[in-house]
Amino acid sequence: MIEQIPAVIAGAGPVGLSIALDLSRRGIRSVVLERKQRLDPHSRATLLVPRSLQYFERLGVLDKLLAAGQRNDAIRILRATDHRPLFTFDFGMLADRTSTPFALALSQDKTERILLDAARTTGLVEVAFDTPFERFEQHREKVLVAAGGGIAFETGVLVGADGAHSSVRAQLGWELEGKTYRTRAVLADIRVSPESDIADGWLADPKAASFTIAIRFSKGVWRIIESAVPETATDAALPERARDLANAIFGPDAWRETLWVASYRKHERRSAQFVQGRVVLAGDSAHLNSPAGGQGMNAGLADAELLSNQIAQMLDDPSRAVAFLAHYGNERMGAFDHDIRGLTDKLEAMETMPAWFRNLVFSAAGIARAMGVETYVARRLSMLSQ
Ligand SMILES: Cc1cc2nc3c(=O)[nH]c(=O)nc-3n(C[C@H](O)[C@H](O)[C@H](O)COP(=O)(O)OP(=O)(O)OC[C@H]3O[C@@H](n4cnc5c(N)ncnc54)[C@H](O)[C@@H]3O)c2cc1C
Repeated sequence: MIEQIPAVIAGAGPVGLSIALDLSRRGIRSVVLERKQRLDPHSRATLLVPRSLQYFERLGVLDKLLAAGQRNDAIRILRATDHRPLFTFDFGMLADRTSTPFALALSQDKTERILLDAARTTGLVEVAFDTPFERFEQHREKVLVAAGGGIAFETGVLVGADGAHSSVRAQLGWELEGKTYRTRAVLADIRVSPESDIADGWLADPKAASFTIAIRFSKGVWRIIESAVPETATDAALPERARDLANAIFGPDAWRETLWVASYRKHERRSAQFVQGRVVLAGDSAHLNSPAGGQGMNAGLADAELLSNQIAQMLDDPSRAVAFLAHYGNERMGAFDHDIRGLTDKLEAMETMPAWFRNLVFSAAGIARAMGVETYVARRLSMLSQ
């Protein structure tokens, strides 16, 4: 039997779940096909930027997210050794542009759980775990979708939010074109002793070979990001590395427990196209960005916001369906080319400059502020211009 449904979404990551929730808020039913048996339990993305929070406010999940994470009205970077302020910027300067002039440190698994619960509560979203998307067949006015277990759908739009190794993109015949960087980021979630747990700001290690920062998630729990380690640093050494990073930032007796550690390969890649007729890519399936500067998951959430809007318009006016979806593709490819392409090069240069030079740059932060760098960083990080 073929089930008829307005939208089929492949992938229950943050992007697929946001689209399903957004469509449900507009009264539109969807099914989310997820290959895994449950949500990914790993921590991954650290920070929700003002634009994403504004979106989540509209989707009605902001309060739950705020209750689960650490709100940052300003970003204060302190030198780990003596807590001397190195650099500050205040999201308050964005108050005239957004109802959410702050960032939220929250692990991705918690964000996804809140989105899943909210989507299911609407009664308009079916999330089918252990049910991979298999293939599609596109017709002028519909898409036929085959999923695991012999399930089939007839739908108006198929969204490939199925991540970097997207099966939807593979069937479209598109690859993620661009480059992969020679360094990796190491990410470690650690628990520290109560004496080391400060709430005044983020801690940067002034001696680290590459930019290394600790961001507070919740009481006693911090995410350490070592921004650029050589590819040769093996995954087997990661638990030890997490402990060393914690000791360097918080002092020799601060580390209590490593909750999660991973290394992350950095890319700057995008699919040649995002849309073919009624089949659309969003999130990591469409573009792979360095997580630095919050451009990983947050860029996918910006896709979700525009795409949901275009799907709603398309269902209102089916005669212009393909045009509405094409607009999404053009806009989001443009955002990648204008706002994200080249950014990883700049961040990589900053992250890998010698420690003495990086410290010099920080000590010149007053000059940078006078030159408007602070405003530039706040606007860029907030993603409000995308
Ligand atoms: C170790 C690690 C650390 C990271 N750290 C950061 C960070 O600090 N900051 C940041 O911004 N970003 C970070 N990222 C990137 C961030 O996780 C991604 O940008 C984000 O998850 C993209 O969301 P998505 O929904 O597009 O794709 P995903 O989260 O990848 O979700 C895709 C989903 O599709 C499912 N799927 C795949 N194939 C199929 C199929 N055929 N059928 C059905 N389902 C399928 C997958 O199982 C998955 O659940 C990190 C990623 C990793 C791996």
